[in-house]
Amino acid sequence: MSIVKKRRYQMESKDEALQVVVRGTDVLNEPLLNKGTAFSLEEREELGLRGLVPPRVVGFEAQVARVLENYHRKTDPLEKFIFLTSLHDRNETLYYKVLMENLMEMTPIVYTPVVGAACQQYGHIYRKNRGMYISHHDRGHVREMFNNWNQEEIDIIVVSDGSRILGLGDLGANGMGIPIGKLALYVAGGGIFPCKTLPILLDTGTNNKELLNDALYLGVDEERIEDDEYYALVDEFVLAVQDRWPKALIQWEDFTNNHAFPLLEKYRDKVLSFNDDIQGTGAVALSGLLGAMRIKGEKLAEQRIIFYGAGSAAVGIADMIVAGIVEESGMSEEEARKLFWLLDSQGLVVKNGPRALQAHKIPYARDDKHIDNLMEVIKTVKPTIIVGVSGQGQTFTEDIIKEMYAHVKQPVIFALSNPTTKSECTAEQAYQWTEGNVIFASGSPFDPVRLDGKIYIPGQGNNMFIFPGVGLGASICQSRKVTDGMFYIAAKTLAHIVTDEELALGTVYPDLTKIRLISVTIATAVCRLAFDSGLAGIDEPDDIFKYVEERMYQPEYPRYVAAEEN
Ligand code: NAD
Repeated sequence: MSIVKKRRYQMESKDEALQVVVRGTDVLNEPLLNKGTAFSLEEREELGLRGLVPPRVVGFEAQVARVLENYHRKTDPLEKFIFLTSLHDRNETLYYKVLMENLMEMTPIVYTPVVGAACQQYGHIYRKNRGMYISHHDRGHVREMFNNWNQEEIDIIVVSDGSRILGLGDLGANGMGIPIGKLALYVAGGGIFPCKTLPILLDTGTNNKELLNDALYLGVDEERIEDDEYYALVDEFVLAVQDRWPKALIQWEDFTNNHAFPLLEKYRDKVLSFNDDIQGTGAVALSGLLGAMRIKGEKLAEQRIIFYGAGSAAVGIADMIVAGIVEESGMSEEEARKLFWLLDSQGLVVKNGPRALQAHKIPYARDDKHIDNLMEVIKTVKPTIIVGVSGQGQTFTEDIIKEMYAHVKQPVIFALSNPTTKSECTAEQAYQWTEGNVIFASGSPFDPVRLDGKIYIPGQGNNMFIFPGVGLGASICQSRKVTDGMFYIAAKTLAHIVTDEELALGTVYPDLTKIRLISVTIATAVCRLAFDSGLAGIDEPDDIFKYVEERMYQPEYPRYVAAEEN
């Protein structure tokens, strides 16, 4: 049974009341409907709530104040996460109001870094169901399981198999924290309606012994399944999504790269889908590098770029930079790739090295001789840019950074590994070891750094700048697919939003508080591209920006009436 007869979606008048089918405690227990103490006396009468909530009708602002008072009483970040999760599970409108009004403070709690700790502890801090879990034991039943989800319209599904959660490795079913967190950012940042989001965890087992030995672990108590069974399950999942929610966009999230690349290739042209770790990361990093080039007054084609790490993020970023160089300088892709040196856990990625290369590394494999450590590569290459995407904390040591700085006045250092403990260096270290001359960005947030009386604001290369806008745009214009071109345009759009004042402070990303404007601007550019390339499934509106903006969710309580009988 649907909980409302008529949902209050974008096209309906804001003044129109929402006809609610359920009554009494069922209303209070449904986070998408619940207003808690803010139900008006009329609504209490209509919906059978008299006596079920305290007598005084409390305004939205007072509810927000109460939440913040309780939130600030907590000092432990994980406790803050648990508190916000409970609010999310109690009253979604209030949750999003609080989150959106305190985005800078709360994004690091609902997403990286604290979501990493929450995933590690998931079975221990678990309170209430959210999202759907599909395991290989559900093979043959996935489509019928989707009937258990009571929303008829889904815009965005974020799905993970928990195999590579941030830089924390295999967390199995505990990885569910990531799809939930990303979708919260979709709502807050991209204006997707909460009821049209669905987090999914594909439980394909875990090879994490600690979790398998943990009595409170909530996933399937087995090691990861073999590839044949794995791909069969993913296929069934994709087909079931297309049948139940044909308009839904699927975002692949935190898969190990041996599955991430094949899944992206398999579905990118057939299904509305993308991989945020590859494409979203590529776009956000390219945008930051375009900002760095503005600061330096140089071109990407003039750079020598080292990647520490050669997985999903590295190749996603490198491919996006190559696209930028080709457009900017007219170089061929092959020539552009010569500006890159990728290192993986074995050292420099070279053609005739000591071992066979995974397919995604091959385009970047160099003709050079193999070097097995970062310091030697830095000495040989004298890079102008170094990007850390290795998941290995504290690997950009003082020696490494000073060696790089010895050859370049304004080194660009992006230490992107998450969460904070895995960052290749801290912001403070990067500024200190380069006498404040670094152009720095990280994956997880760092506080401003004070050095010799000057304040530096480190940028956060947060994928949140990109994926909500891309997802929103692709979903609203009902694009048939999500293309690399959409991510490229998103990167350039984001780069344009960064002001000269922000660059002067050393930060290559805009203020996160502008996220709604960023997302609607990116979504508009994505729609424009979809219309121009014949991918869109709707007629082009006169004013795309306005069309998108009017369809974005705002956390406001609708007025409720009891559903009319019929
Ligand atoms: P991945 O597993 O696909 O790749 C990791 C790479 O690091 C592999 O190539 C591996 O060989 C290499 N590596 C491991 N140990 C190494 C070592 N000691 N020296 C050199 N290389 C080593 O993972 P990924 O998806 O590419 O993510 C990597 C990291 O980037 C994670 O910490 C993730 O959180 C972070 N990330 C950040 C952002 C962002 O900041 N916006 C986005 C995506 C990923």
